[in-house]
Amino acid sequence: MYGKMKDHLQAELKAIDEAGIYKRERVITSPQGATVHVSTGEDVVIMCANNYLGLSSHPDVIQASKDALDSHGYGMSSVRFICGTQDIHKELEAKIAKFYGTEDTILYAAAFDANGGVFEPLFTAEDAIISDALNHASIIDGIRLCKAQRYRYKHSDMADLEEKLKESQAQRFRIIVTDGVFSMDGDLAKMDEICALADKYDALVMTDECHSAGFIGKTGRGVPEHFGVQDHVDIVTGTLGKALGGAMGGYTTGPKEIIDMLRQKSRPYLFSNSLAPSIVGASNKVFDILSSTTELRDTLEENTNYFKEKIIAAGFDIKPGDSPIVPIMLYDAALSQKFADRLLEEGIYAIGFFYPVVPKGEARIRTQISAAHSKEDLDRAAAAFIKVGKELDVIS
Ligand SMILES: *Cc1c(COP(=O)(O)O)cnc(C)c1O
Repeated sequence: MYGKMKDHLQAELKAIDEAGIYKRERVITSPQGATVHVSTGEDVVIMCANNYLGLSSHPDVIQASKDALDSHGYGMSSVRFICGTQDIHKELEAKIAKFYGTEDTILYAAAFDANGGVFEPLFTAEDAIISDALNHASIIDGIRLCKAQRYRYKHSDMADLEEKLKESQAQRFRIIVTDGVFSMDGDLAKMDEICALADKYDALVMTDECHSAGFIGKTGRGVPEHFGVQDHVDIVTGTLGKALGGAMGGYTTGPKEIIDMLRQKSRPYLFSNSLAPSIVGASNKVFDILSSTTELRDTLEENTNYFKEKIIAAGFDIKPGDSPIVPIMLYDAALSQKFADRLLEEGIYAIGFFYPVVPKGEARIRTQISAAHSKEDLDRAAAAFIKVGKELDVIS
């Protein structure tokens, strides 16, 4: 029976490849870090990991993970509400709530699940969800699973958001949903204006802090802190799989009743396994580190400014923004692929993005800076960009 489908899939895969959008994976043979070993045997500087704070292979985090493995075992073989809740899970939920100044937190296997499971338990057909057009796929899927009325506003367009708030005024509860930092451009949601509109039109606010938790804002509390509106944001989702250790896991944090209702009804929480103890133990250490010092996010900010200055001085266009995501614009899709390949030959691991991941004519190499990068790593990266940029006539 598979024969017909096999032919169909082969043809589709071929079309994907011919369109130049077939995804191939480069193989790394070392831990994630400022530099990694790739399977060709070289040491290359990583410029595209979400390892913003350098915690993915931090010795204290690895030790905490090992300790939890010894004290709490390998796996839970259960969902949370049957026999999958350990003291360390409760400890982590309390630590995350304390970090954000919220009432409670619920853990998930991934932020994809946190976003996938946040709307359906809370909102019905009487309600409205008002979502930024560039929100993450997991938010889009979460909204699809919910019967609430859907409104989509143009990316960061506050006039359009206000229009949607007016249109949805008949609905019972309304929530504005946005990514905190948008990962392709590295731009921040206009959280102060969003919160002001939410106040004016009596709506809740939810932000997905996957690309900002731990480093945006003076103490790393994220985009709401950056704009001084932490008290105005109702629901925060985030991942443990990026800056906060980089393994996996997600969370939703907010008011007690909301988190309580998610524990009762959120399907990815009820029907998926409990986070592994070694991840929970490591995450507890991560929040201890971030609650005691801003050193890592300060280093990250310094590194980002250092790298940006060199790249701008060399004549490259970058998308401006306040995050460690630095998109270096090449505009042309084929050029972005060639550029990334040449960078790898020069010892720099970065990826070229083009349509449909970014708008047509906006191809780029998206670089992401880490607190783990040394100045030498960043010098090496900038030198490679300049060498390849001249070679391919991007800069003179
Ligand atoms: C990465 C990301 C997610 C998914 O996080 P996982 O924990 O890997 O599932 C969700 N939202 C945004 C904005 C992200 O960048």
